[in-house]
Amino acid sequence: MREATALTKLQELDLELLKCASALASMPQQARIKTIALAAKKVASELTGIVGQRKDVELEIADTRENLAHYHEKTREVQAAADEGAHTHREIRDFEQQLTSLAKRIEKCEFALGPLSERLERLERAERNARLTAERLERERATAEASLSEGSAALRSRIVELTRERDAAATGVSAEHLAAYEAARKRFKGLAVERLQGNVPSVCRVKLQPSQFHDLAHGEEITECPYCHRILITSEEEGE
Ligand SMILES: [Zn+2]
Repeated sequence: MREATALTKLQELDLELLKCASALASMPQQARIKTIALAAKKVASELTGIVGQRKDVELEIADTRENLAHYHEKTREVQAAADEGAHTHREIRDFEQQLTSLAKRIEKCEFALGPLSERLERLERAERNARLTAERLERERATAEASLSEGSAALRSRIVELTRERDAAATGVSAEHLAAYEAARKRFKGLAVERLQGNVPSVCRVKLQPSQFHDLAHGEEITECPYCHRILITSEEEGE
């Protein structure tokens, strides 16, 4: 295969590869997988928030219970001291004051526990629901992935085949022209190579001046278009 033909072939294969890649990217399962991933991310972040709040409430409940145990213990101590032996009128009044104050604290703690356990229950329920949603999304993701994998099998094997052909075609192109092609391919979104048809390059279609045409026709077979700077092949296509 002539180098010019290998270069044209390379471009053909690359253009088809681009088409395959875009077909693969636009499969409906891809959009579905993206949507699921976004939803899963949202649920994961909500779950983090809920777990944080749940742990806070658990700590608050534990603190309150600890205080409650402490006040009960204190109450028993004061009661025991009050019951022990004879006391002055003033001492008895002190004991009573302490017991009243402790009773108020106990009441306050017990009062706080109700709403706290309700809040804990609500958070536990929200956490359970978020976990179920996360599990459901994971199942949906797996299903969509499987469907994508199944639906794209033919496309993916075509890509493998084209890539193999492409690598083979690339061996027929010099390192210098290959580098120029890769650079032009990025710059021109795939259409990097054009061929002279008469005195008109096939892609940019700007008619060459007679002197330019003369110079190009007598120069290298693979050169650069003076107008669009794509790689220009000056020879006719090789017969099939
Ligand atoms: Zn051109």
